Amino acid sequence: MLIDGHGREVTYLRVSVTERCNFRCQYCMPDKPFSWVPQENLLSFEDLFAFIKAAIDQGITKIRLTGGEPLLRADLDRFIRMIHDYAPDIDLALTTNGYLLSDVAQKLADAGLKRLNISLDSLKPAVAAQIAQKNVLGKVLEGIDAALAAGLKIKINMVPLKGINDNEIIDVMEYAKERGIEIRFIEYMENALAKDGLKGLLGKEILEKVREKYPIKKIGRSGSSPSFTYELEDGYRFGLIDPHKHDFCETCNRIRLTAEGYLIPCLYFDEAQSIKDSVEAGDIDGAVATLKTVLADKPKENRWSDEESETSNRAFYETGG
Ligand code: SAM
Ligand code: SF4
Repeated sequence: MLIDGHGREVTYLRVSVTERCNFRCQYCMPDKPFSWVPQENLLSFEDLFAFIKAAIDQGITKIRLTGGEPLLRADLDRFIRMIHDYAPDIDLALTTNGYLLSDVAQKLADAGLKRLNISLDSLKPAVAAQIAQKNVLGKVLEGIDAALAAGLKIKINMVPLKGINDNEIIDVMEYAKERGIEIRFIEYMENALAKDGLKGLLGKEILEKVREKYPIKKIGRSGSSPSFTYELEDGYRFGLIDPHKHDFCETCNRIRLTAEGYLIPCLYFDEAQSIKDSVEAGDIDGAVATLKTVLADKPKENRWSDEESETSNRAFYETGG
């Protein structure tokens, strides 16, 4: 069992397989980083898997692959199969922007992927292109259709931004609802790498927009999920992730691993420790010891609610969100 310094059990590992991306979302990576991490600095799938096996043996029960855009990493289905074959019952999920999904959705499902979160910020081609800084909508919608056809369980993530896509909250929710997909609205988390001047909607503002059309009932948070569930009168449920309240930090069960092998204890803070040298030397016990040190120092809560705090310097495309 993995327990952090605040007594929280950690069961959820998020693995970023690349920091590279084919989008330039304004809230995440508006400009291409000055230089990409050289390919040789990335942990190989074999080394990542060696650590993942040890993490599963220590008590990890849920793994999410993310990025950057994880589908840019070649042979991702091979990696998914490695994890699935080792632990078929593990809750194995992927977060993607959906652009490359239509060609690989079935392969990912066949390899053992169970769940998929797809980012969809707008149903208007021009607005989607404004946010991602690329003409993306058609391919993303094709990707969602292919994932549904492959039988994958999907959630849609939307980040509502003031004056950009905040008039589409109902439309994107109805698109998801018609397809039996849960949507999760995520508050924009300010960070030093996002486009200057960008403003997100707070959770209560997002709920007000939904209430303009639908009465909603509070359901609650399930387990350690950061997402709070709400229900419409017809039983459709949607989620809201509102880190500015950070009440979910109390039950945080997650740890993040970057493609370069850094373990990150909290999305907000800069702290990280590398397991790369240990894993590449075959010293898995050393990597597990580093994991335990990082967990011992895991912060109690993020600081997005704190107006006095510095803007977070964490790049979402490195941590995987
Ligand atoms: N490229 C994939 C994607 O976009 O789904 C996976 C990585 S992305 C970093 C993971 C999630 O983080 C996406 O749903 C994205 O919308 C969200 N995200 C990125 N930057 C964010 C920010 N500043 N505030 C809130 N959510 C953010
Ligand atoms: Fe890429 Fe995802 Fe970041 Fe958008 S949110 S730039 S798709 S990593």
